[in-house]
Amino acid sequence: MSDVTEREGHCLCNAIQISAKNASRHVGACHCVMCRRWGGGPFMTIDCGPEVAIDGQENLSIFDSSPWAERGFCRQCGTHLFYRLKESKQHFVPMGIFDGTEDLAFDHQVFIDEKPDFYEFVNKTKDMTGTEIFAMYGSSEAE
Ligand SMILES: [Zn+2]
Ligand SMILES: [Zn+2]
Repeated sequence: MSDVTEREGHCLCNAIQISAKNASRHVGACHCVMCRRWGGGPFMTIDCGPEVAIDGQENLSIFDSSPWAERGFCRQCGTHLFYRLKESKQHFVPMGIFDGTEDLAFDHQVFIDEKPDFYEFVNKTKDMTGTEIFAMYGSSEAE
């Protein structure tokens, strides 16, 4: 089974359709303070790379959340659509907007050091701290 696949998804009100050519089958959870504030809990996403097509752009709002990344959502229904790195255009798309979950594996967690103590996933995952993540993407982006 290939590691990536084509996936289709849409927001809750259907004003926006997303199509990802190379969506990973690996789901990651981000526990950082910003993601938890944005979504109310850990942010579970699929790395879709730069090849993401969005229909219904007129309903898309983009929030500039940090010097290196932005977050997209539907301005009609509020569905979160992506966290995107500005430079690489790498899209992390919430797995919940896609149809079908059978082939997905939840196997990594990031900003594990920002996870509050009151919850914990039982899945066996590779966990990384914020420092490890910034080191992976280039440390100049930290803070
Ligand atoms: Zn919508
Ligand atoms: Zn996060």
